[in-house]
Amino acid sequence: MMQSPESASRRIVIAGGGIAGLTLAVALKQALGESFRIIVADPALAGPARADSRAYAVAAAARNMLEALGVWRLAEAASTPMTEMVITDSRTSDLVRPVFLSFDGEIEPGQPFAHMVENGALMAALLQISRANGVELRAEGVRSGTVEDDGAVAVSFADGENLDCALLVAADGARSKLREQAGIGWVGWPYPQSGIVATIGHERPHDGRAVEHFLPSGPFAILPLPDGGKLGHRSSIVWTEATENVPALLDDSDLLPEVERRFGLELGEITMESRPGAYPLSFGVARRFVGDRLALLGDAAHVIHPIAGQGLNLGLKDVAALAEVIVDAARLGLDVGSSDVLEDYEKGRRFDTVAMGIVTDGLNRLFSNDSTPLRLARDLGLGLVERMPGLKRFFIREAAGLGGSTPRLLKGEML
Ligand SMILES: Cc1cc2nc3c(=O)[nH]c(=O)nc-3n(C[C@H](O)[C@H](O)[C@H](O)COP(=O)(O)OP(=O)(O)OC[C@H]3O[C@@H](n4cnc5c(N)ncnc54)[C@H](O)[C@@H]3O)c2cc1C
Repeated sequence: MMQSPESASRRIVIAGGGIAGLTLAVALKQALGESFRIIVADPALAGPARADSRAYAVAAAARNMLEALGVWRLAEAASTPMTEMVITDSRTSDLVRPVFLSFDGEIEPGQPFAHMVENGALMAALLQISRANGVELRAEGVRSGTVEDDGAVAVSFADGENLDCALLVAADGARSKLREQAGIGWVGWPYPQSGIVATIGHERPHDGRAVEHFLPSGPFAILPLPDGGKLGHRSSIVWTEATENVPALLDDSDLLPEVERRFGLELGEITMESRPGAYPLSFGVARRFVGDRLALLGDAAHVIHPIAGQGLNLGLKDVAALAEVIVDAARLGLDVGSSDVLEDYEKGRRFDTVAMGIVTDGLNRLFSNDSTPLRLARDLGLGLVERMPGLKRFFIREAAGLGGSTPRLLKGEML
């Protein structure tokens, strides 16, 4: 294949303009410049950004990357550092929720292990940088990718146009059509739980404290957001509830008393600042992260329980790993869609992903129940961790995404 941006070998199509797809596009475009065309296609790019009350706990490593790419400074005003993390284990009706485990939120002095950031602000920042850097945004879906005899992959868009390229990245979410078309299997199961997400206003400041109450139906997380709203202070809740209870809860015009029962009294009076949204929860990992000139990215490759707020962080680690192998190959003049390059990506990501999936699935099984023996065992376990500073430091570095081998972007280095 010829080496000009007009040749297929210098084109990469990313199907899916969620946070994972757009971050990859920005990382590739900034590193490869005019020598490559980077195209992101997503029907959701057609309208205004979807109203979504979701906010993410972005781990320190992922934030290093967003900072290096110039995205973070645009989203920073919609973010707040997590300075402390507190875990309790109680029943919904308990008035007092004793603290079993608490983490100081800093990995190093002045470096929080995570920041909360609002989805809308992060998406807006990514779109702005994508446009400024020359990423091509197409407001339509990708129908298929077919590998041709000459080695290129023919990407077919919803408007009927075809474009040959070196690599197709499927960042098209948990129900990835491209993964299915490539015949890549999926190992997973649904949880009988949904995640209710909403923004809550409150009277007293949260001081950057994140709280997770482990209740019998699942974890109820209170995550700090920047100040604002009707009562001056805001938090995001991620409320895991049995799916069968969710329609009645959301139909109820007055959800607030139910939120209050779980939220507790510590932050004073509370109010709903957004309409709640509900997301069915599941676990799943693709059997392979790569196919013929195809790489799976983000939720298209794995979906995990939000109990540890790590789903998007896993996707952003995929971005750092995939961007690094592509850019290194391109600089050596190698084929960026070759199986060698894609296998390096898969090797770098598979273990970490499966490990995080197993941990989050196990935590959810251990905590989302009201069995007395299990309650005693887990409270004993939490109490032991609380008394072991070395173990706590290990957990906080893992939650910050700084454990194990780290691609350059996650250290804040440019490619
Ligand atoms: C309740 C809840 C709370 C969570 N909290 C956290 C948290 O605190 N921290 C964290 O790290 N993670 C969290 N997560 C996980 C996180 O939301 C996801 O991991 C993340 O949004 C996935 O991003 P993505 O870009 O991979 O996929 P998506 O955001 O699903 O984007 C996929 C995109 O692909 C597009 N698309 C679909 N089909 C096609 C096609 N054929 N062609 C082109 N485009 C297509 C879609 O329109 C969509 O825009 C949470 C999840 C839930 C459910």
